[in-house]
Amino acid sequence: EGEIQSIFLHYAGGGAAAAHKEDAAAHADRMLVSGFVKFFKETPNVLGREMTVSDLEIMFTKYKTQGEKHLSYVQFALALDMVNATLFEDVTKYENAHGKRARMLKLINEHVFKARWAKPYIKALSERTDVYVARKAAWIQSVIRGFFGRVEYRIRLEIHRTELATQRRLASAIRLQCAARKYFARCVVVTLAKKILVKYIEPASGEPYWSNPRTRRVVWTKPTLFGSSDIDIPTVLPHKGTEYLISCVNCLTNTAQSICYECDDVFCNSCFSALHTKGNRKKHTQNPIPHCVVCHYQMASRVCGTCTAQKRFTFMTCDVCHKNVHADVKRPHKWTWLTMPCVECHEYAARWRCLDCNDLYCTECFSHVHSRGAKVHHEYEKLNYYTHTLHEHFMRDAREEARRKRDDEKLAQLRSSAPAVQHDKALVLQRMYRGMLGRIEGKLYLKQERHKIRNAWKLRQKENLKRRRYVYQLRNMFGYAKMLESDLLEEQVLQRVPIWKRPRARYFIQQNLADEAHFAHLERDVKKTPRAHFRIGTVEQLIEQARYGGVRLPGLISIEEGSREVHTTLDLSSLVKKGDRVRIKHWCFFVNGDGTDLVLGKETVPLARVWRLDNVKDEPMFLMPPSGLMIHLGRIFYYGFLNAQVAQLFIGGRIAFHSSCKDISNVLAKALRKIGNRKAANYLKGRSKKHEKWARRIKYGTGEYIKNAGVKAKENVEEISVEAMQAKKDDAKNNAYLDQEEVGKSKWEEKYDEERCKTYWVHVDTGEVVFEKPAKELDEMTQAEKDVIAAKKRIAQRKAVQGKKTVGGRKKKT
Ligand SMILES: [Zn+2]
Ligand SMILES: [Zn+2]
Ligand SMILES: [Zn+2]
Ligand SMILES: [Zn+2]
Ligand SMILES: [Zn+2]
Ligand SMILES: [Zn+2]
Repeated sequence: EGEIQSIFLHYAGGGAAAAHKEDAAAHADRMLVSGFVKFFKETPNVLGREMTVSDLEIMFTKYKTQGEKHLSYVQFALALDMVNATLFEDVTKYENAHGKRARMLKLINEHVFKARWAKPYIKALSERTDVYVARKAAWIQSVIRGFFGRVEYRIRLEIHRTELATQRRLASAIRLQCAARKYFARCVVVTLAKKILVKYIEPASGEPYWSNPRTRRVVWTKPTLFGSSDIDIPTVLPHKGTEYLISCVNCLTNTAQSICYECDDVFCNSCFSALHTKGNRKKHTQNPIPHCVVCHYQMASRVCGTCTAQKRFTFMTCDVCHKNVHADVKRPHKWTWLTMPCVECHEYAARWRCLDCNDLYCTECFSHVHSRGAKVHHEYEKLNYYTHTLHEHFMRDAREEARRKRDDEKLAQLRSSAPAVQHDKALVLQRMYRGMLGRIEGKLYLKQERHKIRNAWKLRQKENLKRRRYVYQLRNMFGYAKMLESDLLEEQVLQRVPIWKRPRARYFIQQNLADEAHFAHLERDVKKTPRAHFRIGTVEQLIEQARYGGVRLPGLISIEEGSREVHTTLDLSSLVKKGDRVRIKHWCFFVNGDGTDLVLGKETVPLARVWRLDNVKDEPMFLMPPSGLMIHLGRIFYYGFLNAQVAQLFIGGRIAFHSSCKDISNVLAKALRKIGNRKAANYLKGRSKKHEKWARRIKYGTGEYIKNAGVKAKENVEEISVEAMQAKKDDAKNNAYLDQEEVGKSKWEEKYDEERCKTYWVHVDTGEVVFEKPAKELDEMTQAEKDVIAAKKRIAQRKAVQGKKTVGGRKKKT
């Protein structure tokens, strides 16, 4: 840039200097056209075919300012670019430069600097370049040195840190080793201490204490040496509940030392020898009681096989020591009981036997089990050194005792049951005897029956001849056949109705059932099936049923003349309902109590019509099949007719007629009786009674009577009053004597002697005792009694008089 500027100055000033020296100073920085052309003329290889002087001048004019004759540096540079563009049209790249700059460099390097005049500019350029390169090199050196310096610093820092960390780790390791060694040392010491020191549990308070058997020192607080750990298994000392010490049963002071299985007791040695000196006892064997090998003061209750094998002596221990010794064994030892264990805990030897539970307990379990409830009152006994042998002896005794008791009971039972057994045996004998008699009787009976059957058969055969007769058969067809002796029951009944009615009659009769078949509450003979069909009712009743039909209802009925209410012996309300048709004798009625007080109840069945005939008592009633169309129509007509006013008038007329007939007959009868014609009078009296009856019966058909027939209230009032009157009469009769007289109280008091089972009488005033009933005094008697006595007296007198007479008569004879 600088070089181009200086070249520009060279050619700007140089051109003008030659012509006008004065203007040179003024136009030093302006380039005229001559200078511009000169520059390119002096530059080699520029002007040629492509670029001519005229082209240069055109370019000059193009870039110069209007009205000026010269170019400024800026305009020169632009013109130069234009020239470059024309000269090196296809150059785009030249020594790291592009575009315009490349073309400019090419012009300067290859053309301008080849000119001779350009030497001082080349020199100036190279100097400037050297200075520039030196400055850049210094800069690069400083940058490189800085980089390497930093790298080295970083490496040094790293090395320093690593050293520090190593030192720290070493220190920590030393500290850890220290601690570990301390810990292990303490462990060893604690283990040693645990082996030597013993921790006891004070039995009374349960407080622990530690003891050193070597120094005999005891502390009540845990040695600080142990820290948080302790002796794992404390040694438990026996207390009141677990202590196992047994004293001699004889002296009660010494500890028991031996056991005698013959006496089943424990003794101290001195007592044993003292008691077993004479007689049979001399033969008794002395069995020593083992003591605990650990504590040496309690009785041994177990023997451990494993420990015995390990220690080479019989290892017998008490319960407490056994637990202490075997608290830390890894594999359970094999041990056995020397004594009977407690049934509750199986941990301690049995000390007590409960006689009510019949069980063995240690002291603690016994008091625990028997602390409340009914068990508080259980009886118990203290046990000695209770071995299995002793227990066996006890069980043997108990068994024997139980057997004895059982035998006694059996004997007593046998004794008490003797009369019952005798009774049973007697019954058996009676049964046998009666059976024998019954069999004889039965044979006779069977024989008789067979005879009867045979006779019946013979009779039947005989009478069959009669049956075969045409007359008989014709009569039989219409139901008029003569009843023969050999007729069966069914024949007796059915042959009384025409042949076409028989199936219907049989159909009805076959529905007959006994009362107990209808009602479950009635008594039933379990040995017999209830009667049915033809076996219900008498032959007459069956014949009637065959004639008029209907199913027989259970029980019997009764109905009064003029009533609508049937009284039944059994509850028919489940069998009969309103609207059903029932038959009494040969009259059919509908069951209906409408418009009356009558209801279908447990004992009554209301009828739609009034019963007009005589009173009926204990007759069967029959349930008829539902009424057909004809019966319905007939009923409608009948009631229509009956309720019509004309019919009622007619009925009224008939009643009036019969009553007047009655009156006339009565009057006539009276008149005839007066004359003396008693026969005719009686006849007329009978007629009048008949007329009265007819009048009464016709009255039942009147509308008024039908309405009132079922209203009970009126009748009931009357009944009640009649009954009351009767009752009054009866009372009066009964109390006739009692009410009339005041009878004085007897002075003899009746008493009963329970010892002698005798009645005796004591006098109230005198206290006299009599064993026969004293005679009543006069003021105690009623009038009737007095009368009776008087009458008796009279009779006695008369008898006496008669006796005298007879005696006198005889005397007369003699
Ligand atoms: Zn003793
Ligand atoms: Zn003995
Ligand atoms: Zn012990
Ligand atoms: Zn053991
Ligand atoms: Zn127990
Ligand atoms: Zn008990």
